[in-house]
Amino acid sequence: MSKTISINAGSSSLKWQLYQMPEEKVIAKGLIERIGLENGISTVKFNGESEQITTDIPDHTIAVKMLLDDLIHLNIIASYDEITGVGHRVVAGGEYFKESALVDEKVIEQVEELSLLAPLHNPGAALGIRAFKELLPEITSVVVFDTAFHTSMPEVAYRYPIANRYYEDYKVRKYGAHGTSHQYVAQEAAKVLGRPIEELKLITCHIGNGASITAVKGGKSVDTSMGLTPLGGVMMGTRSGDLDPAIIPFLIDREPELADAEKIRNVFNRESGLLGISEKSSDMRDIIEGKKAGEAKASLAYDMYIDRLKKYIGQYVAVLNGVDGIVFTAGIGENSDIVRRDVIEGLSWFGMDVDPEKNVFGANGIISTDGAKVKVMVIPTDEELVIARDVERFKNAN
Ligand code: AMP
Repeated sequence: MSKTISINAGSSSLKWQLYQMPEEKVIAKGLIERIGLENGISTVKFNGESEQITTDIPDHTIAVKMLLDDLIHLNIIASYDEITGVGHRVVAGGEYFKESALVDEKVIEQVEELSLLAPLHNPGAALGIRAFKELLPEITSVVVFDTAFHTSMPEVAYRYPIANRYYEDYKVRKYGAHGTSHQYVAQEAAKVLGRPIEELKLITCHIGNGASITAVKGGKSVDTSMGLTPLGGVMMGTRSGDLDPAIIPFLIDREPELADAEKIRNVFNRESGLLGISEKSSDMRDIIEGKKAGEAKASLAYDMYIDRLKKYIGQYVAVLNGVDGIVFTAGIGENSDIVRRDVIEGLSWFGMDVDPEKNVFGANGIISTDGAKVKVMVIPTDEELVIARDVERFKNAN
């Protein structure tokens, strides 16, 4: 029996999903939170039930040990030996990683080095990788990068129009993110449309708390909205997305204490987006409720959010010089028929529409009318499955 774990580790959390492979059956999943803080929480979901333990979880190695021991206590596995593979989600792969890779010491060091590009994500991922390496050193361990899918972008799209030396010295360029998700939903969209992916032009909208839009041509990413870091692009839960870069020195001139990298990063990463404008919440459900209740700030936040999405889709129609399908995925894309309607209604000139009977909560597949020139789709993403499949691929190659 071959079991593989998909891991998404952050600085204080570790999300996991255990698969029976190659059947791709989810056996159990869970989340460990508050690692390194007091009162850590480990939740395991298995057989339709949920178990929660609260205890101090000082570091990632102890978190992983807890997770493995939970699997034994719950009789999900009889011994550690049943786990033959682990796949780790890593946000930033920089220019080092054009595809997933087997873990070794050099790979871990590169993931750590790339923390500058994803300060909220890569350090935690590296801790998760090290923890598994320590506890299960013999299993197939693979890193899967959010940026890998976007390494097919042409230079004209990934370079910023700033002096060459910043690219040459520091590799300042667009890397994008959510690549695993964009790739997966693009492949699924081709199946839904019943056409070979090689002939399709798609715009994939991964809109959750973080959000990115990708132009996919022939199954390859040719442009994406996130940039050097996951801060660029559309408006998000707490992130601003694209800005006039002059805003940064302008603010520093007025509030000199902001001339600190960590502080200014926080302004745009944690205090902006839906939260910054609504002054209420970063959660789209709260924003929609506020708008319905006539709250001016929540309404503005919602309208700005829709505006930024429409503009990016419009840009990518231009990048692709046409489009066959628009795909919505992730928390907002999969669940909010209202957001999908409001974005697509504003793009009717392009031949896009949504059919109110298909565009409902729980929709899966095509939501545009039968005659629509551009097919609009909802496709639930499954990054964990892509990670487990990658591990399987490496296992079979070994
Ligand atoms: P994710 O980061 O993919 O988990 O997505 C989280 C986002 O999805 C949050 O902003 C949620 O408010 C949003 N979301 C989840 N369910 C709904 C819903 N039914 N309507 C609107 N937004 C939703």
